[in-house]
Amino acid sequence: NREQFIHSERLNVVSELSASVSHEIRNPLTVTSGFLQLLKASKTITQEERRYIELSLLEVLRAEKIVSDYLSFAKPQSENMVYSNFLTETEYAKNLIIPYAIMHQVDVQFHFNNTLYTRYDQNQIQQCLINLYKNGIEAMKDTGGGTLFISISEKEQNIIIKIQDTGIGMTRDQISRLGKPYYSTKEKGTGLGMLMVYSTINKVKGTIEIDSQKGKGTTFVLKIPIQP
Ligand code: ADP
Ligand code: MG
Repeated sequence: NREQFIHSERLNVVSELSASVSHEIRNPLTVTSGFLQLLKASKTITQEERRYIELSLLEVLRAEKIVSDYLSFAKPQSENMVYSNFLTETEYAKNLIIPYAIMHQVDVQFHFNNTLYTRYDQNQIQQCLINLYKNGIEAMKDTGGGTLFISISEKEQNIIIKIQDTGIGMTRDQISRLGKPYYSTKEKGTGLGMLMVYSTINKVKGTIEIDSQKGKGTTFVLKIPIQP
């Protein structure tokens, strides 16, 4: 179908464009926040000037956050394809978020069993898992901490990744909004994390099952069929 073909072409162009834009934006943001930090430490500035600098730093931070949630989402697909079993990625992402977990009194438990091998984009899967782990931790930061359970196993030619938190949970309505661009209930949220998760899991033809109870916690189950 011609219409569909044109549409997917356009999607590719958009995705490649945003990938390079994200890259180009990251460096100047880093430089800017570095100089702002330096300025903030100055002893000769007024109270008011310090407040402006702090506000600018917050805005730069926000821009950095949007870029980092979006960057891998936008990256062209063929770049980091691997034939592997997700174990490296689930564990790598887990190690990355440990400091963030400790900061919010969250205990992280990681269990793994044998898993199958399949083809996927390593960067995208890592970013996708980081987004899910981070959401789990953030769901527990106002409840005084909790436990994030991560497990990976196999079942009937599928790789099963389970991410469970003991956080605030979601209503049915909130669950139905997950993955909509810019949907966020957080004061400083981007609402891009779950969009990236859905897009990534969709690319590996997987499914996402969500079980959540308000005030109790949430479980995400990713089921990814192996590609022969
Ligand atoms: P952000 O984290 O920037 O808000 P996301 O796309 O990652 O954006 O998540 C969107 C929204 O989905 C969150 O603001 C939150 O309301 C909800 N959400 C996602 N994961 C969880 C979770 N584990 N527990 C409770 N709510 C969640
Ligand atoms: Mg998020």
